[in-house]
Amino acid sequence: MFELTSLAGAAAALVFLFLWRREKRRSEEREETLLAEKERLINWLEAELSGQERARREMEEVFASLQDAVFLVDGDAHLRFLNAAALQMFEVRVEDVLGAQLLEAFPSFGLESAVRAALEGEKSSAQELTLHAPRLREVLLRVSPVRRSAPSLDGKSSGAVVILQDLTELRRLERMRRDFVANASHELRTPVANIRAMAETLIEAPGDEKLAARFYPQMISEAERLSRLVSDLLDLARLESQSEDEIPPSLQQFDLVPLINEVVSQSKYKAIERQIEIKCTFAPDCERDVWIVGEAAALEQVVFNLLDNALSYTPTGGTVGLCIEREAGGQNGSSLGDRVLVRVRDSGIGIPPKDLPRIFERFYRVDKARSRSQGGTGLGLAIVKHIVENQGGSVTVESVENQGSTFTIALPSA
Ligand code: ADP
Repeated sequence: MFELTSLAGAAAALVFLFLWRREKRRSEEREETLLAEKERLINWLEAELSGQERARREMEEVFASLQDAVFLVDGDAHLRFLNAAALQMFEVRVEDVLGAQLLEAFPSFGLESAVRAALEGEKSSAQELTLHAPRLREVLLRVSPVRRSAPSLDGKSSGAVVILQDLTELRRLERMRRDFVANASHELRTPVANIRAMAETLIEAPGDEKLAARFYPQMISEAERLSRLVSDLLDLARLESQSEDEIPPSLQQFDLVPLINEVVSQSKYKAIERQIEIKCTFAPDCERDVWIVGEAAALEQVVFNLLDNALSYTPTGGTVGLCIEREAGGQNGSSLGDRVLVRVRDSGIGIPPKDLPRIFERFYRVDKARSRSQGGTGLGLAIVKHIVENQGGSVTVESVENQGSTFTIALPSA
């Protein structure tokens, strides 16, 4: 009897142990499944967050690379986002303007009213606007309301996206082109009108030898001026289309020394006429040959134009010097390779400081009457600048009124 009881007890204990272990295993399995599930969830969340972060970063990179200024305002016209171009356009730092009222951050009423109109639920708008601060700019302003996902009772939008395209440079070029056409027409019309007036006068006075002797040379000189103008205009048009279409000039290696000697001999007649001596100075390392890379015929025109100006704007008996020297790369703060400098120096009338920044503009002359009397077209220096820059060089000028001017062209050495 006692044995039976203890056997039953042992069996019960075994069953209990078996059940407890099974339960424990099951609960362990459940825990493992839960843990795996948690891990999967965490991994998914992490992937989701890093995906969103990546998308946000990509979006920011896209906005940062835009040349147009873009910013976002909320429903109360507070700035909520600005790209790099917007910060640059308004010359502000993001920490100073983010969260600020639009008008406080960018004081422009045109901008503010366009944004307000968009926020009031009106349609997108586009208009040209002049910004007066921080500097004068002409911009195309586009404002689009950002619609709420659920329509609002007051009809207001929840913000607006503003895009500003800077048109200042474009408008400046358009104005330049318009001025150029007007100037060119005027310059061409004047000699034609003069020739016509003289021809008509001669027709009305047949046999007037005195008048004919006076007018014929003038008519020839006007015709020559006309032909110089047309030829300079064609040169400029060719050079401009070359630089606009980025057609590289046909560069070759050539020796500058014979080219300089050729230009000096071409200018000899004018120099003798004006009693001006042209002095050529070659630096010791430039005496024999100076090889440069460029377009020889075009550079001949450059040196000719500079020398011709020096002779034109130097009073009789003055001096004109032409010198060549080398400049090693990195010299005088230059980050370029070795260059050859050609300087044309004169002891002439000089150029007033206020005119210096403009003399390379087309048709810009310090003294119109003086330029005309010297047979100038007002295009010589514009052609010089175009040619030199198309060939990877630069041109600069220093001048003191009534003492003289020095024009320096720097060309890449071969
Ligand atoms: P232009 O045919 O009138 O000489 P350029 O384009 O060659 O036209 O020069 C523009 C203007 O720059 C000239 O009208 C003149 O006023 C000034 N200029 C150019 N070179 C000299 C110089 N060496 N000395 C003084 N003024 C100069």
